[in-house]
Amino acid sequence: MVKTRVIFLGPPGVGKGTQAKLVAEKLGIPHISTGDILRKARQEGTPLGLEAKAYMDRGDLVPDSVLNGLVEARLQNPDAAQGWILDGFPRTRSQAEFLQSLLGKLSQGVAAVIHLDATTNVLVERLLKRAQLEGRTDDDEEVIRNRLDVYQKETAPLVDFYHELVQVIDGSSSLDHVTQQILEVLN
Ligand code: AMP
Repeated sequence: MVKTRVIFLGPPGVGKGTQAKLVAEKLGIPHISTGDILRKARQEGTPLGLEAKAYMDRGDLVPDSVLNGLVEARLQNPDAAQGWILDGFPRTRSQAEFLQSLLGKLSQGVAAVIHLDATTNVLVERLLKRAQLEGRTDDDEEVIRNRLDVYQKETAPLVDFYHELVQVIDGSSSLDHVTQQILEVLN
């Protein structure tokens, strides 16, 4: 049976968002990206967007309390009943614990954790290129370094938290090859 409740873990710049979106489309399940939700809220100038702005511009994490509520509401949307790909959440141990208890309440469980990885050099290079192309304010070099540090400190430990479910995939190979490998793992 295809695994349809999947968490994508990986450092900024590894291609997590791109892959999560492609795989979700292939599997016909929603791609839930907390970064995308926050960026949209910022563009629309909602209270959530205003609260998140300063943290995002520094490359820091938005507080768990904000993210947990957001994900709780999103996972209860009917479109998420049959499966989902979580991209960018959880990002801290406390978010991971919150998710466990939320999924318990929803009688759901995580089927797989895809850990996309690449070397710091590859990541920095990709992030700088993306900053030029998209003009993302959270992508100047100092902010990029901070995002990578925050990832190492707060999010990388989740690889251990989920060790029984984790499948490591090299994110530095070609886009198509990475997608294919992820699909093989989930099928
Ligand atoms: P992303 O597009 O996933 O790299 O997220 C962009 C930014 O949104 C991050 O650098 C954080 O500031 C914020 N963000 C996204 N997801 C989370 C999360 N789960 N917890 C805290 N902050 C988050």
